[in-house]
Amino acid sequence: MRNRLIVGNWKMHGSMATAVDLIMELEQGMESVPENIDVAVAPPFLHIDEVIRRSSNTRLLMAAQNVSAFEVGAVTGEVSSTMLADIGIRFVIVGHSERRSLFGESNETVAEKFARAYFSDLTPILCVGETQEQREAGFTEDVVLEQMYAIIDRIGIKPLLNAVVAYEPVWAIGTGASASPEQAQEVHALLRSKLASESEGQTVATRLIYGGSVKASNSAALFGQADIDGALVGGASLDAKEFLTICKHAGK
Ligand code: PEP
Repeated sequence: MRNRLIVGNWKMHGSMATAVDLIMELEQGMESVPENIDVAVAPPFLHIDEVIRRSSNTRLLMAAQNVSAFEVGAVTGEVSSTMLADIGIRFVIVGHSERRSLFGESNETVAEKFARAYFSDLTPILCVGETQEQREAGFTEDVVLEQMYAIIDRIGIKPLLNAVVAYEPVWAIGTGASASPEQAQEVHALLRSKLASESEGQTVATRLIYGGSVKASNSAALFGQADIDGALVGGASLDAKEFLTICKHAGK
């Protein structure tokens, strides 16, 4: 049985003071979240170290929002996978649609970042998802599979079998309009079946989480679907009570 996973992506919001307030509130509320639910947060890079120090006595896990595709060296402004692992980061988000669209990250770049994370013993959270136009044109399956197969082509299937894949339809991110539980389940089932068919008999431990306007009001229905193993939460993760309610719904 896979533990469900809820990840809060704080994006580029807040200050050191608000990051500390948020983590303290989460820390206090974690007692009410069932033990078998894994909860992680991805603060802005500048706040991570302080957030780790403040949450070192809890079971909150740490994630990074990004990682360099380069290993080490003269790469101004980048943060390497080994640096992340060194300070206690467990997960790293790669291929978020904001990085793909705002920073031109290709499937190849995302695969390189995934590989870097994997070889540094971090668990990559690979984001895949189609735009509204792609969905309307009937290309949802093609898009998400191409994004996933870019990883398999780069490092093979094994690293994906212990990673996290987040299905995040671009049209649902930050819009308030989540995919319906059935729409999400359909894509999750597709991803799960492809992973199984590529797995060469190895255990498929991949957690498939959904992201895109997840809130306390829609999370229970999403978690009611057979292939939804958790959520990647943006906006709602900045409100401790709302985020903790989502975490609790994952336990039902
Ligand atoms: C995200 O950015 O990964 C996300 C899911 O955002 P939101 O929950 O705000 O739609």
